[in-house]
Amino acid sequence: MSKLPHTGTTIFSVMSALAAEHKAINLSQGFPDYDCSDELKEMVNQAMQQGHNQYAPMPGLMQLRTAIAAKIRSLYQQTINPDTDITITPGGTYAIYTAIATYIHPGDEVIIFEPAYDSYIPNVLVNGGKPVLISLSFPEYRIDWQEVRRKITPRTRMIMVNTPHNPTGSILREEDMAELEKLVAEHNLLVLSDEVYEHLVFDGARHLSVLRYPAIYKNSFVVFSFGKVFHNTGWKMGYCVAPEHLMKEYRKVHQYLCFSVNTPMQYGLAEFLETPAHYLELPAFYQQKRDYFLELMSGSRFTPLASQGSYFQLMRYDQISSEGDKEFAVRLTKEFGVAAIPVSAFYHDGKDDHVVRFCFAKKETTLEQAAARLKKI
Ligand code: GLN
Repeated sequence: MSKLPHTGTTIFSVMSALAAEHKAINLSQGFPDYDCSDELKEMVNQAMQQGHNQYAPMPGLMQLRTAIAAKIRSLYQQTINPDTDITITPGGTYAIYTAIATYIHPGDEVIIFEPAYDSYIPNVLVNGGKPVLISLSFPEYRIDWQEVRRKITPRTRMIMVNTPHNPTGSILREEDMAELEKLVAEHNLLVLSDEVYEHLVFDGARHLSVLRYPAIYKNSFVVFSFGKVFHNTGWKMGYCVAPEHLMKEYRKVHQYLCFSVNTPMQYGLAEFLETPAHYLELPAFYQQKRDYFLELMSGSRFTPLASQGSYFQLMRYDQISSEGDKEFAVRLTKEFGVAAIPVSAFYHDGKDDHVVRFCFAKKETTLEQAAARLKKI
């Protein structure tokens, strides 16, 4: 009997395949169309040449964990023990799954905000948990904390947050963190904080990592991605940060899911992180792309919603058509040669606000070509 009877194929596979089939410009699945740094590739290459080609330690290479702890100290003013509190993972999605598999027992309730990254709900279900779904407001995509309070029961075990948010590009603010902190204290909830776009925050805003808030962090798993920020999604490299007592349990599961993560890339990333400019330059790099895409689209009939972070830009298309967003996204791909993600795919009930998601982690020429096509609609 299927454990996931209502789950289909992830929208990312569906839209990327459709884009390939119709030779469309693929602004759907979130990945860059430019390469990662030559310097980083050379660092990985060196590690391979030096013979670092066998298993890494189960929690990850110590050099890499130490470099991550230094970055966290400088960016988020939090002291993390690299020995006990950081585990290197094969990507952010894996890190999220492992936290859920470690702590969610059958019947445990997990609060998830929608639109939600599409792995969250199946991850909870496959472990016997019960997703408790709360819609973010539209079109601001903010959390209604009163509603969260109303949905908490004695079975509520975990709350999942995501900032900067995929697919909407919204970010959590100080008042959200204050509410989260109160809830954690009152109900002793676990927090799973997906922060894979941590460096992609715009207009001078600060990324409010859970790591900045000791009273939240004490109950949290915080998930990060190298692929998303260093332009190498195909490497499937990420990490999870959690206090020792939580991480101890997490590693019990991790050691039997993948044991450890590929070694030469860990050496390369450890060396790459020694230069803070490699991540400090990212907000400006991506803001420039967002701004350029918006400028290019300014004469179109799409209406942009605010994107404060991530590498996604939502657009309403209600001035163009009244069709459903899935239909519209398919037609956009087939007839106009640009693939996007229909945002209804991130709601369990297919809530459709007539919005599609474009990924702007693309070369300027790609954005120009895509915008030229999108303006013809
Ligand atoms: N995180 C990427 C996105 O939102 C997709 C990752 C995947 O394909 N599973 O587009």
